[in-house]
Amino acid sequence: MKKFKEFAIREELIKAITELGFEKPTPIQEQSIPILKKGNMDFIGLAQTGTGKTAAFGLPLIELLDIDQKIIQALILAPTRELCVQISNDLNNYCKYLPEVKIAAVYGGASIETQISQIKKGIHIVVATPGRLMDLIRRKKINISTIKYAVLDEADEMLNMGFQEDIDSILENTPAHKRIWLFAATMPDEIHAITGKYMHNPYELTVGEKNTAAENIEHIYYVVHERDRYTALKRIVDVNPDIFAIIFCRTKAETQEIAEKLIKDGYNADSLHGDLSQAQRDKVMMHYRDRALQLLVATDVAARGIDVNDVSHVINYQLPDEVELYTHRSGRTARAGKSGITISIINTKDIGKIKQIERLVNIKFIYAKVPGGVEVCEQQLMALIKKILKVEINQQGISKYLPAIFEELKDIDKNELITRMVSLEFNRFLDYYRDAGDLNIDFSKKDHIRGKNSGKTENSMFINLGVMDGFDNGKMLKYLMKTTSLPADTFTRINIKSVYSFIDIKEAHFQDVIESFKSEVYKGRKVRVDISEGSKNKKSSSKPERRKFGKKKRSLKT
Ligand code: ADP
Ligand code: MG
Repeated sequence: MKKFKEFAIREELIKAITELGFEKPTPIQEQSIPILKKGNMDFIGLAQTGTGKTAAFGLPLIELLDIDQKIIQALILAPTRELCVQISNDLNNYCKYLPEVKIAAVYGGASIETQISQIKKGIHIVVATPGRLMDLIRRKKINISTIKYAVLDEADEMLNMGFQEDIDSILENTPAHKRIWLFAATMPDEIHAITGKYMHNPYELTVGEKNTAAENIEHIYYVVHERDRYTALKRIVDVNPDIFAIIFCRTKAETQEIAEKLIKDGYNADSLHGDLSQAQRDKVMMHYRDRALQLLVATDVAARGIDVNDVSHVINYQLPDEVELYTHRSGRTARAGKSGITISIINTKDIGKIKQIERLVNIKFIYAKVPGGVEVCEQQLMALIKKILKVEINQQGISKYLPAIFEELKDIDKNELITRMVSLEFNRFLDYYRDAGDLNIDFSKKDHIRGKNSGKTENSMFINLGVMDGFDNGKMLKYLMKTTSLPADTFTRINIKSVYSFIDIKEAHFQDVIESFKSEVYKGRKVRVDISEGSKNKKSSSKPERRKFGKKKRSLKT
């Protein structure tokens, strides 16, 4: 299957999704649409986040509608209000050329009256949170006895949130012959409770390995003292001036606290969690989607499944308590085939969790050092220069001031002028970072990881040069040979990443290589090398038997 056309779905749908930029189906869409379109089977679809599950069920669902009959034919349940809104927006976009199709989103926190009147006008699809739907059923304001299809999106999260009973009674209000389609990114054991109870011989489709994270994400962790967590967070933001991130905290209180601190410290941040009113949450999400907001500080529940384009970083201010949540958080970046970075700030106690996530999610973490003051200043300076180069000049507005300004500055030469302009903005960071200490904990001796003393050295070196600096494997090899004066076969493997790389080095020469870089400068930038934990993608052989870091039930209030 190469094109959406080959699915033989309505022309109007094809036209609309083509305009949305969908050229060809994603793997989950390719495999699920032909099956779901038949409408005669229960279905379980598991695929990584950001792989297009909404269209995977949305398109066949719309295709199966009898549009002339204005009764509710399909119900979509989702765990949060944000997701309901997102899904119904997506469906409405697919229906751009099928304006007769009516979709209502019903969720708590918004006026139930408005939702009731929308339902009264006649709808084909209802997208709902379990709580609000229950409310509407109790008030007899919605009739879902006519549905043919029930979709459970992010089903594992609905169970986590304790919606089991609501889902039970909702499904009791639906006809026995309806089909259930369940979609999720991870498959914790709890989900079998739903499948066993409600589904008949479901067709099970897993795209990619179960419980895996997207491949195009780099997973990095920093190790700091507990007291330095917040400072480390600021460094991450400062060293990435163009960052567009979601910062995950474990509780509502912490989410609020970190957002407030960031705002106070002058960052463009806001929080998203369940204690905010619906209006506040909508506003925050709108700002974030419009990029008017740079840092979204969120709880796991509030940010579940959220699809915002081009999120550059997911930051785990604290590691989540469950491995699956790590996957869900990371999935907020690297959507629709793009790449992204997840950074976890941990303390030495959490190193075991890192190992566990590596094993169960089958990813490889990269240990990196929290950037130092010099690095932050360097990045800020370069960002400022880029801004100067990109700034739009408003000739009309500025021209009348220019003669006087030129006159005032006429005795300063160009270089000095540049230095002064840059210092103006830069001094702020320089002042702040002049005495900034090293936040990293030296845990290489503690045998927490395979460090150089543990006897299992991978001989892998981290270097802060990568694709962005114009390197590919060949160029890097030449550069390494030149800098170290060692032969090519010293370097057994080169792995170039965006802004850094990993070099595997023959054991006998490892220290020599590290030494050679002691005072190396590349294009005016200090080259930083470090002993790395290794960048090899190890395949995990262990089964994902225990996922909760030893805890039985998630006991968080998010
Ligand atoms: P999931 O539910 O699997 O996490 P979504 O359904 O939210 O993923 O889709 C992720 C992103 O990918 C959305 O922005 C969506 O518009 C985009 N997308 C989905 N299908 C396609 C496609 N076939 N081609 C291009 N982009 C797509
Ligand atoms: Mg989704």
